[in-house]
Amino acid sequence: MNKKVLKRMICIVIAAALLLISAGCGGKTDGEKTSENQTDKATGNNTSALAQTTAETTTKKIDASPDDKLIALTFDDGPYSPVTERILDVLEKNGARATFFVVGNRVASYKSSVERAAKLGCEIGSHTYTHQNLTKVGVDGIRSQLEKTNDAVSKITGHDITVLRPPEGAVNDTVRANVNYPLVLWSVDSKDWKYRNAEKDYNNVVNNVFDGCIVLMHDLYPATADAVTKFVPELVAKGYKFVTFSELMELRGVKLENGVKYFSAKPKNQAGSGETTADKAVSSTAAATTATTAAASTTAAVAKTGTTSTDIDANVDYVE
Ligand code: ZN
Repeated sequence: MNKKVLKRMICIVIAAALLLISAGCGGKTDGEKTSENQTDKATGNNTSALAQTTAETTTKKIDASPDDKLIALTFDDGPYSPVTERILDVLEKNGARATFFVVGNRVASYKSSVERAAKLGCEIGSHTYTHQNLTKVGVDGIRSQLEKTNDAVSKITGHDITVLRPPEGAVNDTVRANVNYPLVLWSVDSKDWKYRNAEKDYNNVVNNVFDGCIVLMHDLYPATADAVTKFVPELVAKGYKFVTFSELMELRGVKLENGVKYFSAKPKNQAGSGETTADKAVSSTAAATTATTAAASTTAAVAKTGTTSTDIDANVDYVE
């Protein structure tokens, strides 16, 4: 009898213990899940907090005035951390900023670089989701490419993209009418995509930069990072300040308009027309005219003879 009672008690104790363990585990699991959820939420919140911090960082004025010699360095086709991080190192070390026109479908893979760039006060622009020539996809395609890229980036930075570099520089009336961004072209082409040679990249930049220029590079090639490592400190020593595209335009008093192309923003006293300092254009014809005017002292976009499509920016002679 005693044995039976003892056995029963042992069974009860074991069962209770098992229940406790089970409950404990279950509880813990749920707790962990809750905790994970909270962590997720917290991460979300942290991301928001980070985004807020980022927003504060990016809206913080750079230490530059309209009278400074300004360069807007821009990088397309990334992010690609092995190269992007090296460029960010150089920018950070030299108190410089740049604009990164990212390809949307690459963003998730190199999230930390996008996050770091934004925290450093760099501008993150759109280069479409799949590096799509926007003249070939119609209105729905254009909108989808831009929305998906904005979703990918804003998740990380906490704010919407405000600038677009159309892949291949390809723009037509449909693109102009359906983009909710100013179109960022360039006035100095490093041709880094073509040569992938640090010395050539370096020379193409330092021999052509001017106050108010927009430089085209690609954060895909190690040679590009090599060139950047060399010319950024040199140009800073010569008095240049590296700002984002939007900072350049703001400092030079250029009001950005959606669907309009921008190539540079010279200081007012150097601007040819005196009307605007930006080599902007609402149409290719106007672009060519503006560019030709500007070309006297710069390498700004110039219509290439033999260009068959007036919809394609004539200064673009590369296919990525
Ligand atoms: Zn590109």
